[in-house]
Amino acid sequence: MEVQKMGKYYVRVCYRNGIAKEENKVFEVHKLCDCAWCREKYLGRTRVNKITITAECEDEIEKVERFLDGWKCANGEKDLPIVFMKANQI
Ligand SMILES: [Zn+2]
Repeated sequence: MEVQKMGKYYVRVCYRNGIAKEENKVFEVHKLCDCAWCREKYLGRTRVNKITITAECEDEIEKVERFLDGWKCANGEKDLPIVFMKANQI
């Protein structure tokens, strides 16, 4: 699986249905929460709350990054499931 650093976040290139064709390409942008609680957990090497947003095309990544800049988990005291969203929901 292809992971690259695009701008501030790690972006994983995936293919819908696992078919490696250009028209199936999607981008998963990942962010680890950086609220005070999560930062502390990160330093203690504990699992940190996290969000993954899927973008259909590379042009949406900038919008996703702007959204992620302001994103924080709902409660850093809890070990929350990964939040999954699509770029067209933000
Ligand atoms: Zn957090």
